[in-house]
Amino acid sequence: MIIYGWNSRNIKQAPLENYPCPQCQQTDSSHIVVVAKYVHIFWIPVFPYSKSAVAICTQCKHETHDEKAIFPGNASNIKRLKATVRLPLYLFSGLAIILLAIGYFTYAGAREDKLAESYVQEPQAGDVYLIRSYEEKSAYNHYLLKVRDVVGDSLWVSYSSYFYNGIVSKLDPNDGFYDIMYPIHKDEIEGYRKSGELKKVMRGYDSSTGFNRDVEFPDSLANQIQVLQDSLQ
Ligand SMILES: [Zn+2]
Repeated sequence: MIIYGWNSRNIKQAPLENYPCPQCQQTDSSHIVVVAKYVHIFWIPVFPYSKSAVAICTQCKHETHDEKAIFPGNASNIKRLKATVRLPLYLFSGLAIILLAIGYFTYAGAREDKLAESYVQEPQAGDVYLIRSYEEKSAYNHYLLKVRDVVGDSLWVSYSSYFYNGIVSKLDPNDGFYDIMYPIHKDEIEGYRKSGELKKVMRGYDSSTGFNRDVEFPDSLANQIQVLQDSLQ
């Protein structure tokens, strides 16, 4: 849950001369206070959106929020006063945090892209590619390919036995890589990278990822493939 809303803070205070308090009638007992209203997320000021002036009597605590009543007949005075009061930078803290976070993720994203590019150009046995299939129309359109061996520009790869509905860095406990492999040209992976289908390249993972798990390629599937191949000949 995100807690957000608005708050206000006094950003400037000065004695207000020749101003009779409308409640206790004392002159020179009031202060003028400039209040900034700001949007907060979890009480961290994100950005200010208004400045207003309030007259507060130090004697009876009466507050006058009507700016026209504080400077009767001189609206430009109040405008000028508010303009001279600078908004303190801390009222933009949240904005700074948000911008830093965007900057960080952009940087981290660019760095990951760079890393993926170098991994694809110099493939190693054990590399795991997470690919989003544009052909699969269901939500389960992500699968993994594992490099078993690199021979020249050819990669011997195995498919994961499951499809996933998003980016994963860990296999389902019942999933693994089929114990059969196919040769593909490494340019095919580079093609996936350029088209955006290659979502992630994983290398140097530990055993908790399940990437070292093999599963038997089912005979029924093998038979179907055989039938398909026979019919094509
Ligand atoms: Zn008063």
